[in-house]
Amino acid sequence: MRFLDSAKIWVQSGHGGAGCASFRREKFIPDGGPNGGDGGKGGSVIVVASDDLNTLIDFRYAQHFKAERGEAGMGAERHGRNGKDRVITVPVGTRILAEDKETIIADLTEDGQRLVLCRGGDGGRGNTHFKTSTNRAPRRAEPGWPGEERWIWLELRLLADAGLVGLPNAGKSTFLSASSRARPKIADYPFTTLEPKLGTVTIDHDAFVLADIPGLIKGASEGAGLGDRFLGHVERCGVLIHLIDGTDAKIAQNYKTIRKELELYGHGLADKTEIVCLNKVDALTKEQLRRKAKSLEQACGQAPMLISAATGENVRPVLLRAYELVKQARAEAAAAKAKVLEVS
Ligand code: GDP
Ligand code: MG
Repeated sequence: MRFLDSAKIWVQSGHGGAGCASFRREKFIPDGGPNGGDGGKGGSVIVVASDDLNTLIDFRYAQHFKAERGEAGMGAERHGRNGKDRVITVPVGTRILAEDKETIIADLTEDGQRLVLCRGGDGGRGNTHFKTSTNRAPRRAEPGWPGEERWIWLELRLLADAGLVGLPNAGKSTFLSASSRARPKIADYPFTTLEPKLGTVTIDHDAFVLADIPGLIKGASEGAGLGDRFLGHVERCGVLIHLIDGTDAKIAQNYKTIRKELELYGHGLADKTEIVCLNKVDALTKEQLRRKAKSLEQACGQAPMLISAATGENVRPVLLRAYELVKQARAEAAAAKAKVLEVS
């Protein structure tokens, strides 16, 4: 269950409006009959899946979703106004579970797929409905029917938008905790990360998913123990953040080791845009920093970002750059999808 984003929310549909009990009252017409209108229907709570969302982050800020109640019926057979539905938009891939977190209510797998979570209550009938041959002046009208309410869980299996790569000890776990709410295990010995760890990085009102992909050690390209899940993360990534341990003596060589692994891994991993970062600059002297940055630049062909995952220095600029590239990749993916739809 580790790759899940989840949120618990409370939803309530609107109560139906009450029916009205009233009678015609006009000059010169004695004993006007019943004319109470029906109450309006309460609004329903509806979820809709959308391709435009990627995470459940919005549900951290809003947990209660209520549809409008129906208005009461009125005299002169006027129907009460129906309550507005409350539409909740969730990312495609969201699974909806009951409060027990086990009973599956629905899997929303397609853009535009809708589901009524709570039906609005029907409006009560006005007294016009209760007129009979023996009771021509019924004072009876129905109250509105109640709406429904429930707690539900939303769950989304996350796929990474951006991947963190680098040798063991480069600082990937530290970087991830500096940039998101994820709290991965951090240790100064290699191989603490046995499977990808994900964090959600928030930028303005948007978010992207960053994965600490385990050190691409020998065997990773065969998917050693990680299999399809790993591949899923890799394929979806629009950008790689490549961390190099600045305190290590073999900067250029370390960079190349990872590049080689990326190529061996295949699946387009080596073709992704790469943001190269020299990490742990807080532990370097000015002179070391200058020398190491230069040797890294020669190896990778771009000026590396100089960062410290531990102190947070320059982490934000890296995330902003990554976010721009993620947005581009998303736009390209959407365009490619639209094209496929056009053809078929
Ligand atoms: P990972 O194997 O790539 O996930 O690396 P970790 O995040 O577990 O970090 C390995 C070690 O490097 C840990 O002891 C961290 O505290 C340390 N470390 C990570 N980033 C920095 C940094 O920016 N500066 C310093 N001085 N140490 C760091
Ligand atoms: Mg780690």
